[in-house]
Amino acid sequence: MEFELWWLLALPLAFGLGWLGSRLDLRQWRSDGSVRRGASLSYFRGLNFLLSEQQDKAIDAFIEAVTADPDTVDLHFALGNLFRRRGEYERAVRVHQNLLARADLPAAERQRAQVALAQDFFKAGLLDRAEAVYVALTSTPYRPEALAALLQIHERTREWNRAIDIAGELERLGSGSYGRQVAHYWCEIASRARERSDLPAARDALEQASRSHPAAVRPWLLRAAIAQQEGDAATALGDLRHIARIAPDFTALAALDIARLAQTLGQQDEISAWLRDQLRDDPAVDVLDAVLLLEPDAQQRYALALTYLQTQHTLLAARRLLDQSPPLPHGDAARPALQQTLEGALRSRQRYRCAGCGFEARNYTWHCPACQGWDTYPPRRAEELHILNS
Ligand SMILES: [Zn+2]
Repeated sequence: MEFELWWLLALPLAFGLGWLGSRLDLRQWRSDGSVRRGASLSYFRGLNFLLSEQQDKAIDAFIEAVTADPDTVDLHFALGNLFRRRGEYERAVRVHQNLLARADLPAAERQRAQVALAQDFFKAGLLDRAEAVYVALTSTPYRPEALAALLQIHERTREWNRAIDIAGELERLGSGSYGRQVAHYWCEIASRARERSDLPAARDALEQASRSHPAAVRPWLLRAAIAQQEGDAATALGDLRHIARIAPDFTALAALDIARLAQTLGQQDEISAWLRDQLRDDPAVDVLDAVLLLEPDAQQRYALALTYLQTQHTLLAARRLLDQSPPLPHGDAARPALQQTLEGALRSRQRYRCAGCGFEARNYTWHCPACQGWDTYPPRRAEELHILNS
């Protein structure tokens, strides 16, 4: 009867519990005569609790099993991983450090324990300690995983030059293309150089950024910002218009600055016509705002806002129309109330939303603070995305 029960539990283990299954060697259990019956019963009880998602009880059973049979490496891994998953990092660290303290631990198991320990440190936010373990792992078969983790650590600690080196290593290992990310690392370096007024260094970094990813928009926005800082409006305008050539979608992010630069340079007519073309090909309320800014005639502005609302049924567009509408009947008392109502309804809808995790940001951002993804924010306000996707 007991034997059958074991099999019943072993089957879901083999087929259903991938993450744990990969870490357990059943042959060891069958052939190792030293495994005590008590330990194995606790172990299977623990598995059973895991399968029924009762982690507390699973941990108790695993602790019991580890106490009864301290030599069983896989049990330590199972227990340590459980602690980490539950956010009990200190206990996870202790379990994995205990394993590493064993003189008789085979090299492969030692490396596995180092990987687990580095993950504990990383999750616990002890990035310097995680980094030290991952650096040690770069000379083992875990090199690709260790480098990928080091890349994340350098991003978090904003060590962009080191991140660039690691991304290069990963590309050489054939772990995919990191051009997009590396372009952002260079942009971070450029922004820092700009902050300390080292504009030549900022320009060099932006050159590298565009080389890493020629379709990257961010370097052009930064170039334009530098040119504006230097009072070179014509160059700034050229840089921003270049964005429409490499990534038309992103014109929305530059449109208002483009319109202001056109005013500075007295090029309203040319740029207004160009922006209207962009608006027709790729509707975005930010581009509409730029077109409205350059249109001197109130009636024309109203017509523009109306045409936009007729094709883009968003509150954002309704708000523009209200702003541009002639005085409402019976005086204009209703306008402030209507504007306030729309503004309230728009509060979250005019934010940007990460396509990876849904995290919302008031200003456009290149790196999601929630899921840590790069380029995960579409250059459209959340409400306009509904229209695009419907
Ligand atoms: Zn995200």
